[in-house]
Amino acid sequence: MKRIYWLILFTGMFFTMCAQGHQKKSDNIKLTTMEFNKLTPEEERVIIHKGTERPYTGELLNNKSEGVYLCKRCDAELYRSSDKFDAQCGWPSFDDEIEGAVKRVQDADGRRTEIICNNCDAHLGHVFLDEGFTSKQTRHCVNSISLKFIPARQEGTSKVYFASGCFWGTEYFFMKAPGVKETTVGFMGGHVDNPTYEQVCQKNTGHLETTEVVFDPVVTSYEEMVKLFFETHDFTQTNGQGPDIGPQYLSSIFYSSQLEKEIAEKYINILTEKGYKVATMLKPASTFWEAENYHQEYYTYKGTKPYCHKYRKIF
Ligand SMILES: [Zn+2]
Repeated sequence: MKRIYWLILFTGMFFTMCAQGHQKKSDNIKLTTMEFNKLTPEEERVIIHKGTERPYTGELLNNKSEGVYLCKRCDAELYRSSDKFDAQCGWPSFDDEIEGAVKRVQDADGRRTEIICNNCDAHLGHVFLDEGFTSKQTRHCVNSISLKFIPARQEGTSKVYFASGCFWGTEYFFMKAPGVKETTVGFMGGHVDNPTYEQVCQKNTGHLETTEVVFDPVVTSYEEMVKLFFETHDFTQTNGQGPDIGPQYLSSIFYSSQLEKEIAEKYINILTEKGYKVATMLKPASTFWEAENYHQEYYTYKGTKPYCHKYRKIF
């Protein structure tokens, strides 16, 4: 009986201690989250509560584009694409960080070295040394979900990405827009390199049918592109576009800079105020995989018109 009493007492004390610990931690976060980007529950699980994303699922795992990787929570620059390498471990790997951007701390497990954002303490992953992958003998094993990728810009033109269902229809409207110099259809946002149309149609590669639009910023603007995007498809549909049902047909803007993200958010807010329930996702641009030739400028070659996209003026 006495033993049970002590057991209950200790258990009680333990939970009280834990509860206090959690309380203190979440108070700290509360004070600072106001200034940081809003996180989804899954992002919070990894970034705040130091969870780990499932291997081979991260959007940036296979990203080979040139650019810079930022902290998802505070936008601090953390890694350069030139330091990324394939460690075949299922998470993005870097053999160096941007100077002073990443802090190393002893992991709670007492064995590993945790890496956190030096600016906001966001959990990034772990660092491992002397494994022989690269001459720097360093592997920052980073959760893709803790990162945001901003591709390097090309001089003179802007390259932007939109997914609004069947890419034949998306491209049809963008290629005719004033100031647009070039359009290409392909796939973005998945976890398989160089996917074929057939693979994407299996609905398990994670890709969206995406149109790459190159425009001349002297003649037109990203705002005009975003308006055209919303005015040529049903951005309230949540399971595809028109008769095309499936994850590859979802509506998404893939932004390449903070400015693009803010412009996209601005138009989503305008539409929400107009009473629309916007289903469009905002995602950081990742590697764009060009689709097979027969998909390019499809309606021009067919001499027909899109079946699931049409223009209607909103703005
Ligand atoms: Zn940060």
